[in-house]
Amino acid sequence: MTRIVFEEVKVSAKRSLTCKTCGKKFSRSKTFSNTINPWNQNLDGSVKTREQVRADVTAEANNWNPMPYCADSCTPKEG
Ligand SMILES: [Zn+2]
Repeated sequence: MTRIVFEEVKVSAKRSLTCKTCGKKFSRSKTFSNTINPWNQNLDGSVKTREQVRADVTAEANNWNPMPYCADSCTPKEG
């Protein structure tokens, strides 16, 4: 059995937040990742390079906006 492992690019993001419900300061962190693989292509069909994949993952990490609530009990219920 052959297992193909694609190189993974990981970027971790951390946000310091203040809970909108109780005012407590807390932080959230999340790791974003993507792999360099033949299906991860540019618009022109060329396979993305490691630098391009890293730029994508970094943009995703920069755009991350976690909910400003410290816990489930502080998160407003929808509906
Ligand atoms: Zn809270």
